[in-house]
Amino acid sequence: MISIAIDGPSGAGKSSLSRRLAAELGYIYVDTGAMYRTIGLHVLRSGADTEDEDAVAALLPGIRLEMRYVDGVQHMFLNGEDVSGLIRTEEVSMAASHVSAHPSVRAFLLDAQRALAKDNYVLMDGRDIGTVVLPGAQVKIFLTASAGDRARRMGVGARPAGMGLHHLPEQDQPVFQGGHRGQGRRRGRAAAAPHPPPRPPLG
Ligand code: C5P
Repeated sequence: MISIAIDGPSGAGKSSLSRRLAAELGYIYVDTGAMYRTIGLHVLRSGADTEDEDAVAALLPGIRLEMRYVDGVQHMFLNGEDVSGLIRTEEVSMAASHVSAHPSVRAFLLDAQRALAKDNYVLMDGRDIGTVVLPGAQVKIFLTASAGDRARRMGVGARPAGMGLHHLPEQDQPVFQGGHRGQGRRRGRAAAAPHPPPRPPLG
């Protein structure tokens, strides 16, 4: 199995890039932020304090997280319910941020994330993917962007539909710092790998 890890700060465009790259390569895109959001939603619904680690940890055994792909788009299921839309609110963002600070929650998701990577060709994004979750990933990308571009993404939302990365002014183009294991690190502008790995047989 081949894993691709994409790390970087908020607003750098990790999820947009990850979705497109995974679709292009035929990999499964694992949006780890959505997993934290789903736990945040569960804790909110239970009425517990999202900042109280003991209370949150006590709820974890009652959580069954599943990801299913509908037309190539990841849907999150919480105990059988599709919560993909519900986890995109400001309130859930805040809850996700709180629960993600608890070591018990991180350990809970670490197992799930590693299990996915063990059985599938995956592309995962999130702040600790290349360092903690998949330190052995064959390809690691650290994606960043100009402060202005990141602020625009976080505050104003996505760029207009149909506008690709190549439409951004050059100073706003994301910069990749990546390296293939065993080849040293390279730094430069985004570029397609000359010899991408073969597409895995997916279903
Ligand atoms: O990326 P997204 O905004 O969906 O992530 C929601 C929250 O989950 C983030 O604010 C962050 O606190 C947490 N998170 C994390 N580690 C990851 C992905 C997300 O702590 N790998």
